[in-house]
Amino acid sequence: MEQIQQPQDIMQIQIPEILPILPARDTIIFPKMVLPLMVKEEKYIRLIEDSLKTHKMLVVSMVKDPNKAYEGIPEIYEIGTACQILRFTKGPDAALIMVQGISRVRIGFMVSVDPYPQARVERLPEQDYRDKEIEALMANVKNVYKQIVEIAPHLPPELMHIIDTVDSPGTLADMSVSSINIDRKKQQKILETLDVKERLKQALIFLNEELEILKIGRDIQEKVRQGIDKSQREYYLREQLKAIQRELGIKDEMAEIEELREKLKKKKLPDHVREVAEKEINRLARIHPSSAEYPVARTYIDWLLELPWMESTEDNLDIKRARKILDKYHYDLEKVKKRILEYLAVRKLNPEHKGPILCFVGPPGTGKTSLGKAIAEALGRKFVRISLGGIRDEAEIRGHRRTYVGALPGRIIQGIRKAGSNNPVFMLDEVDKIGLDFRGDPASALLEVLDPEQNHAFSDHYLEVEFDLSKVMFICTANQLDPIPAPLRDRMEIIELTGYTEDEKVNIAKKFLIPRQIKEHGLEGVSIQFRESAIRRIIREYTREAGLRNLERAIGSICRGIAIKVAEEGKDSRKFIITKNNVREYLGNPKFTLDVVERTSTPGVAIGMAWTPVGGEILFVEATIMPGDKNLVLTGQLGGVMKESAQIALSYLRSRAKDLGIKEDFYKGHDIHIHVPAGAIPKDGPSAGITMLTALASLLKERPVKPLLAMTGEVTLRGLVLPVGGIKDKVLAASRSGIKEVILPKDNKNDLDEIPDHIKKGLKFHLVKTVEEVLKIALP
Ligand code: ADP
Repeated sequence: MEQIQQPQDIMQIQIPEILPILPARDTIIFPKMVLPLMVKEEKYIRLIEDSLKTHKMLVVSMVKDPNKAYEGIPEIYEIGTACQILRFTKGPDAALIMVQGISRVRIGFMVSVDPYPQARVERLPEQDYRDKEIEALMANVKNVYKQIVEIAPHLPPELMHIIDTVDSPGTLADMSVSSINIDRKKQQKILETLDVKERLKQALIFLNEELEILKIGRDIQEKVRQGIDKSQREYYLREQLKAIQRELGIKDEMAEIEELREKLKKKKLPDHVREVAEKEINRLARIHPSSAEYPVARTYIDWLLELPWMESTEDNLDIKRARKILDKYHYDLEKVKKRILEYLAVRKLNPEHKGPILCFVGPPGTGKTSLGKAIAEALGRKFVRISLGGIRDEAEIRGHRRTYVGALPGRIIQGIRKAGSNNPVFMLDEVDKIGLDFRGDPASALLEVLDPEQNHAFSDHYLEVEFDLSKVMFICTANQLDPIPAPLRDRMEIIELTGYTEDEKVNIAKKFLIPRQIKEHGLEGVSIQFRESAIRRIIREYTREAGLRNLERAIGSICRGIAIKVAEEGKDSRKFIITKNNVREYLGNPKFTLDVVERTSTPGVAIGMAWTPVGGEILFVEATIMPGDKNLVLTGQLGGVMKESAQIALSYLRSRAKDLGIKEDFYKGHDIHIHVPAGAIPKDGPSAGITMLTALASLLKERPVKPLLAMTGEVTLRGLVLPVGGIKDKVLAASRSGIKEVILPKDNKNDLDEIPDHIKKGLKFHLVKTVEEVLKIALP
């Protein structure tokens, strides 16, 4: 910035009425100021050349949006500056001009645009008056300006003196903002402010803003500098400390690294892993121990050194022993045990054989986990178990890349580390609960884990080096078969565990659960006897499950109760006999009173059978009629399909009322209410159709349903009974609950094959095709 001509001279320069316009991208020229401009476009070079031939003047005006591409002439601000060209140099592909601002001008009518824009311009005269306020503003502007020059690293200190020489208030405002390079839009604002007092105020605001920004920047710098000083200081202290520690024989990081090298030497590792570990240890030696990277690198090395890359246990393929172990922990389950022994036998004959992955499917507490443990024990392998329930992120299986803060390997590799051998029995629980969302597809990652073709080189994102999973024996478990992703299901051999009948539970309790709980509670020397009637009462009134978890828990509670008494009174003091009558003393009030007969003794109640993910259940459907307006009220949190079956049942009865011996206008002036109690059971699907219809028919005919009869089946408007799912679990539940007769759709006949014979023996089955048959049986 130079001031070349004296202000007076400039004021006297005449400005022509029409001037060429030069749009500038990021330069604003104020009156009196001299600045260079680079011009590249052909037409504007021509503009300058033409101008030099005549008045040597042009108007510089700023482009409104310098980032916008344009065709022709860009949009410019209306206020610009008329300038005189002082110098012109032309290079091969650009021209450089030196211009001096003469006066603010308003750009008016464009007289031509081709080859370059020319417009009528109106000179905007500078005001030059002073008052106290202006004096004060000027002093302030100068003051803030000087502070800026002092702090800003890029501004030459001479500016402090130059600003003192500026005498005109308008020029002071112009110069103060233009020389410190503030935002172009703010400069334009100053250019456009014609009132001098206003212009000074505006300049003062902008200068103060600039000063603030600079101050903040300086503070940050200061802090960073202090931080560096501090870490340097720490570094020296640490070095000193190390020297002292060496003197005292305390191990330092070097020793730590030596230790890692030693460990690496002793550890059995595949070559590719050894290489990486070596490289990482060397890298660690170069990282400063106080840096954030050190623990990250250290943890990674630990993982490499801890994983059982080559450690495996030797398989025990003694089939007889395996049989013994399976029998030791499990009652019955013959089919399952046989399948497991076959698997072991094949392994024995052909160790390379990669059998299918076993998947145990069944309700909770049916022995899936304990079978897995028994298999591990039989084979002499380690056992680990992870749950896949609720996993949505692929990274949970495959790990996070080490660039993430706090990254770790995925659950598979974590499980392997926990096992400490590369051939454990690895149980993957809840494969049916694995989710899918935007963070990738954990199921397909799992597929890679399980696939014998791929899993010898499993890549975990954290480890980066491949781990061989091919020796692992994976066993999956699930409560339900359907939600398991199909590609996963195809890889597995499904083994179903359906749940136990009351008799089986009694047996298991006597032979396994009670002795185990007595042992676990340290009561082995105490005389304890569980009467069978007591066990049955626990099963019926304190548990309602297909498996054994709650039964085992209840037995555990009783053992705790006994333990307290023994602790108080001494071991030999007495005998403990648990009977039907004193169970309540230990377990409190019964949770389920399942008096089936009593509940169905009034008209309007029928028993259905429901399927749930944790096994079958029986449920009661209650119907009642009351004065109202032909409404059908449904309660018990029924799903949409179930509500529809209620409507179908009602419509069927209305259409066939006469044949069925029901009053034809029964619904006139009445509401009908159907309720299905038992809040915990999810209730949807069409399979309660015939039950709801039976309950309604019973209500309307005012006759109770045959006692101890349960049913399931979908019903159509024409009165046909269609097949439904989950027959096996439903029948098992009915048998558990003391039901004697069961109505099933005829088309479900084949499902009966799956039901164990001893259960079939205890039940009478009615296979039906129509609702009429149902009603004949239910309301004889
Ligand atoms: P799941 O894994 O299917 O939920 P668990 O394996 O945890 O079930 O079984 C629950 C309890 O019942 C365990 O203590 C288990 O030993 C016992 N159990 C299950 N099935 C049997 C069986 N057939 N014989 C003996 N105990 C069993």
